[in-house]
Amino acid sequence: MNYLDLHAINAPYEPQIKQALLDVVDSGWYLFGKQVCEFEKEWAAYNEAKHCVACANGLDALRLVMKAWIEMGLINEGDEVIVPANTYIATILAVSDNGLCPLPVDADPLSYVISVDKVKALLNERIAKQGNIGRIRAILPVHLYGTLCDMKALAEIAESHNLLMLQDCAQCHGQQVSGTCAWSFYPGKNLGALGDAGAITTDDEALAETIRRIAFYGSSRKYIHQYKGLNSRMDEMQAAVLRIKLKDLDRCNRRRQEIAMRYINEISNPHVVLPQPDSVFHIFPLLCDDRDALQKHLLSLGIQTQIHYPIPPHRQEAYKEWADLHFPVAEHISEHELSLPCHPAMSDEDVQTVIEGVMGMWNEE
Ligand SMILES: *Cc1c(COP(=O)(O)O)cnc(C)c1O
Repeated sequence: MNYLDLHAINAPYEPQIKQALLDVVDSGWYLFGKQVCEFEKEWAAYNEAKHCVACANGLDALRLVMKAWIEMGLINEGDEVIVPANTYIATILAVSDNGLCPLPVDADPLSYVISVDKVKALLNERIAKQGNIGRIRAILPVHLYGTLCDMKALAEIAESHNLLMLQDCAQCHGQQVSGTCAWSFYPGKNLGALGDAGAITTDDEALAETIRRIAFYGSSRKYIHQYKGLNSRMDEMQAAVLRIKLKDLDRCNRRRQEIAMRYINEISNPHVVLPQPDSVFHIFPLLCDDRDALQKHLLSLGIQTQIHYPIPPHRQEAYKEWADLHFPVAEHISEHELSLPCHPAMSDEDVQTVIEGVMGMWNEE
């Protein structure tokens, strides 16, 4: 059993996808066409957002929002952005790429997403030390694994300290989110294209328009360039695929939740800590006191698993300036996390095999 089976995940839509791709080929129109335009409308409506701007990938979605903030004069190079210590590194790369300084905050030990208490502690510590929060200007929560951060608490913090907010929604398609969100439609995500794609949703019209221009060479009219922009766009084929799969996203997420609930209800073992149930389970993260042994055991039964993520960003060479920092919860997760297969194309028998595999590890002792 593969950890992910993209072929099986896309199989239910194969005839529709093939037809839609042929239609794009026949149309002779590959960028800035009907498919992208309709997808933007549909993705905005699905998320109850006023605007959606499609772009090339999830990393670009994050980069574009911060680039737009800079162009709008809302944040300046060298300002600090609070990020979670437990995340995929793309979140943090997007901050660095804009000349902003990522400021990692450790994870909550139960939900594994950014700890609200530790965000508060960081801000209070700054205020105690220097009388103000210094150059902290924004907060970038990540709804990691499909689990929502405590947005009510984070929004209150942002409001009281006048911080900008951008959510990394690359792993939470289908969760109820509002505000400015960066999305990835990388093939393995809960809503995945057949290649790279991304988008930003927001209620902020000026922000959406600025992002749209920056993503098109800093231009809103051909050959008139207002910003030092870049080229980041979704193509018609990816949009056509996403429109087909979006119609089935809720069912797919319900199936993920069904599988996850079976894991949560049927795996019981003192060696294993199971995740909280309130998630769209892009990833099913269990913690195990002997993760590597469990991974090996499952592989010997033909069950492939993954680790999200084996090396936290502050332990990467790319951020060697953070070598002295410690984030005990993020480090604990990186040492103990194991992701069980959890995707909508799994059969009940597959799920049973995984459960028995995990339980069998200790029965043999
Ligand atoms: C996948 C992912 C990204 C990056 O998305 P791409 O489309 O691969 O660029 C960013 N943040 C998180 C949390 C992700 O999981």
